[in-house]
Amino acid sequence: MKTGKAIIFSAPSGAGKTTIVRHLVDIPEFSLTFSVSATSRPMRSHEANGRDYYFISSEEFLKRAKNGEFIEWEEVYKDQYYGTLKAEIEKIWAEGKNVIFDVDVIGGLNLKKIFGDKALAIFVRPPSLEALRFRLRNRSTETSEKVAMRIEKAQHEMTFATRFDFILVNDELEKALSEAQKKVQDFLNE
Ligand code: ADP
Ligand code: 5GP
Repeated sequence: MKTGKAIIFSAPSGAGKTTIVRHLVDIPEFSLTFSVSATSRPMRSHEANGRDYYFISSEEFLKRAKNGEFIEWEEVYKDQYYGTLKAEIEKIWAEGKNVIFDVDVIGGLNLKKIFGDKALAIFVRPPSLEALRFRLRNRSTETSEKVAMRIEKAQHEMTFATRFDFILVNDELEKALSEAQKKVQDFLNE
C-alpha cells in the first residue's frame, strides 16, 4: 500500500466525519495520521490540545496566518478560525505516512485543488437535514443557537457535494464505515 497520499473528509458539521475518520485511522495497514488543525474555537470537555486541535487565540491564529503558516484556513463560523498547518502535513509525510483531513467543505475543495491526484476527497452526506439537527442536538457540544447556525450553514454546504471525488451517505453507520474503508483501500492501492 502506498504512502505520501492525502485523504480529505468534508461535510456539514454533525454528518459524522470525525466518527468515520477515527475508524479509518485505527486501521494499521492504511498508515493514516490525522492532520491536527489549529482553531480559535473553545475546547470541548472531551477534547485535548494537540490531539483534536491546536487550540490558540484568534490573535495568535491571525498572526500565524499572516506568517504564511497555513496551507489553507477559513473563518468557518463567525470569529472561529480553523486552518491546516503546512508543518503538520510535512511532518506526517516525512514519517512515511498518509495524511487524513477533517475539514470544512471549502477547505476540502482547496486541499483537493492543491494535491490533485495525490488526494481523495470524500463528502459525507447526512440522510437529511432533520437527521443532522438530531445528531447535533444529541452530541450536546453546542448551544442551541450554535446548532441553528451550523444547520443554516449545512444547507449551503450540501450544494458543494458533487465537486468531490465521492459522496458517502452516512445513514446506517456500519454501512458508511465499510464503504469508506473500501474507497480508501482502493485509492491507497492505486
Ligand atoms: P462531524 O465530525 O461531522 O461533526 P461527528 O462524527 O461528531 O460529526 O458525528 C455527529 C454525532 O452524530 C456524534 O454524536 C456521532 O456519534 C453521531 N453519528 C455519527 N454517525 C451516525 C449515524 N450514522 N447514525 C447516527 N448517529 C451518528
Ligand atoms: P468543529 O468545531 O465541529 O470541530 O469543526 C467545525 C468545522 O470546521 C468542521 O466542518 C471541520 O471539518 C472544520 N475544520 C476543522 N479543521 C479545519 C481546517 O483546518 N480547515 C478548515 N477549512 N476547516 C476545518
